[in-house]
Parts: sequence; structure tokens; C-alpha cells
Amino acid sequence: MADWNPWHGCKKFSPGCAHCYVYRRDARYELDAAQVKKNAAFDLPVRKRRDDRYVLQGPDTVWTCFTSDFFLDQADPWRPQAWAMMRERSDLDFFFITKRILRFQEGLPPDWGEGYPNVSIGVTCENQAMADLRLPFFLSLPIRKKLIICEPMLENIDFSSYLGPEIQQVVVGGESGPDSRLMRYEWALAVREQCISHGVHFQFRQTGARFEKDGRVYYIPRVQQIAQARKAGIQWP
Ligand code: SF4
Repeated sequence: MADWNPWHGCKKFSPGCAHCYVYRRDARYELDAAQVKKNAAFDLPVRKRRDDRYVLQGPDTVWTCFTSDFFLDQADPWRPQAWAMMRERSDLDFFFITKRILRFQEGLPPDWGEGYPNVSIGVTCENQAMADLRLPFFLSLPIRKKLIICEPMLENIDFSSYLGPEIQQVVVGGESGPDSRLMRYEWALAVREQCISHGVHFQFRQTGARFEKDGRVYYIPRVQQIAQARKAGIQWP
């Protein structure tokens, strides 16, 4: 899997943003994550070596824009070019997650049609209110591959009315960092049941740092959060 961060920095605007890892990481280097900047690697997908081959070789999945939000308003001038690079690199699969799906139409390329086949979009829903706000619109959009990302999961959420063949997968997980909010195992199990009854793939990706199971709260170090979630063995199918 390759990484591509066309721009860096973001603005907090949603409950899930409270302890954003981009802010935490930048603070370590005394940087202000609210300053949005186009990165030097902006053109990475179309950058070529001396032998005229692309730097990023396909086929591969490109984890895109993970220190910002692809639909951030400050990135409006850069997004058309980013779309054009994804269109050019049809041998790569681009995947990004966003909390700003309501801005999907801003800078959308005229040839988008039913969606570029090599672009997957995950919409983040950290609580019921954000799910009810974002998912009806998300479902109405022409996007070939859609995922629901519930990280950090802040409460029990009923996704039932949004699940169906259009959704490829629901991913749930907790929050990391020193101020992390609690995630309960029973919330993950409830979403899993919703996914099974609608035939949608389910992944419990990571526990977060504060995790409650059977009435007991566990403090889980960052390096063990993914492994602990895997151990639960509740991925479906
Ligand atoms: S949208 Fe994502 S990157 Fe932006 S502040 Fe919120 S959590 Fe951080």
C-alpha cells in the first residue's frame, strides 16, 4: 500500500475531531495543524523516474489524504488537479475517508459520471447525529465504492437504515491518545449484527486506548490496539 498526502492540515468541525491525531502529531513538532498547506508530494501519483516509469507502480492501493480532509474548503483550488491525477492513474486504487461528504460536489470533475472505478470513499460517522446527517446524502451520490468508517466510535449507533449492497464495509474502532474517549465492546457487536443482517462486511479495526468490555475498562497501548481488536475475532465474514 502506498501513501499520498496532497495537502496537510485541517480544521476541527465535528465531535470526532476533538482529539484529532493530526493535531497531536503536529503539536509534538510545535506545528499548527490548522495551517493547511499543499505538500511537496502533491503530484506524487504522476511523478516519474528518469526511465519514464511512474514512481508509484500499479497495481496498488493508495491511502490518500490522511493528514487532512479531501473535501476541506481550503483545498478547493487544488482538488481538481488531485482528481485529474487519480483519473490518469487508473492502475492505482485511491482510498480516502472524509467527514465533509456534504462538500462532495465542490470541484468534482465533469467526467466523474457514476464515479471513477479506482476511487473508494469512506464517510466517517462518530455518533448517531453525524450518521443521520451524512449517510443519506452519501448514499445518494455516484461513487463506485462506499464505506462507512466509525472511528472514533463515541456511542452506540444504529446504521440499519443505511446498510445495503451499496456499502462495501463498515469499520468501527476506538479513539487513541492520552485524552481518548471510551469505546464499548457492545457497540461494536451491535454494529456487527446490523451488518450481518444486511449482508455488509464488518471490521473491528482497533480498540482505541480506553476500551470497556463486560463492565471492565482497559487501557490499551497504541501498539496493541489493532492486535487486540483482531483477537476479538468478530470480523465478518
Ligand atoms: S476532519 Fe479529520 S483530519 Fe480534519 S480535524 Fe477532523 S479528525 Fe482531524
